[in-house]
Amino acid sequence: MPAFTEPRFWADAMLGGLARWLRVLGYDVRYENGISDTELIRLARVEGRVVLTRDRALFERLGPEAARYVQARRPLEQLAEVVSGLQLDTQNGRFTRCLLCNTPLEADGPLYRCPTCGRRYWEGSHVRRMRGLLDLLRKG
Ligand SMILES: [Zn+2]
Repeated sequence: MPAFTEPRFWADAMLGGLARWLRVLGYDVRYENGISDTELIRLARVEGRVVLTRDRALFERLGPEAARYVQARRPLEQLAEVVSGLQLDTQNGRFTRCLLCNTPLEADGPLYRCPTCGRRYWEGSHVRRMRGLLDLLRKG
C-alpha cells in the first residue's frame, strides 16, 4: 500500500463529514453508523485503524495510541486539526478514493469510477472540493 494512505482511520458516528474529507485526501477511513463501541473497538484493532472520535468515554477506553480525540466541531476544522496533529500528507492522495464507500477509484476515460458502488467522479466535482481544501489549508 502506498505510504500516503497511512495511517488508516475509523471515524466515529459523529464524524461522517470528517471521514469524507479524509477520503478526499486519499486516506482509508471506515465509518459505520449504528455500531456499538465495543464492536468498533474490536474491529478498529483487527484492522489496525486509528479511531477518530468526539466521544470522551470512547477515547478513554481506547487510549492515545489507538485513538485521537477531535476537538473541532465543523468538518473542515476537524480535518485541519487532524492533518496538523498527525502531520498528514495532503497532496499525494487527493481524489484517489470514493467519498461514499472508501474504495480506491479507477480511471475510466476522462472520469474516475468507483468499482464498488459505481459512483463516477469528474473534474468539476473534484475542483469544487479541491477549492474548499485549498481555502482550508491557507487558513491553517
Ligand atoms: Zn464507492
